[in-house]
Amino acid sequence: MTFGSIQQKFKVLEHSCLIYFDMGHKNPKIVYKMNDYLIYRKLPDKTVWLCAHYHRKDRCKAKVVTKGKDALVQGNHNHLPTYKQKFQKHMVSQLVNVHFEEL
Ligand SMILES: [Zn+2]
Repeated sequence: MTFGSIQQKFKVLEHSCLIYFDMGHKNPKIVYKMNDYLIYRKLPDKTVWLCAHYHRKDRCKAKVVTKGKDALVQGNHNHLPTYKQKFQKHMVSQLVNVHFEEL
């Protein structure tokens, strides 16, 4: 499924939002709204990120798909925000258009 076809399903278009990219090590991650997402799959045109709690017992299903200046956010977290550190200098912030879809 392409991002374009997913995009047509989104219900709410949120305003632009900053996503922080942490690409500085072996396991890239992003931080969106104080939640960590770990890289799951990098495709030629988009990247799929899963909530850091996906592999935990609580199996959070929140997911972000980034493609250029767009991000599709799917699902809600079943836990409190995971990101508690201060943003680190090597993290790169990018303003993206966030599309939200409930699962
Ligand atoms: Zn989560």
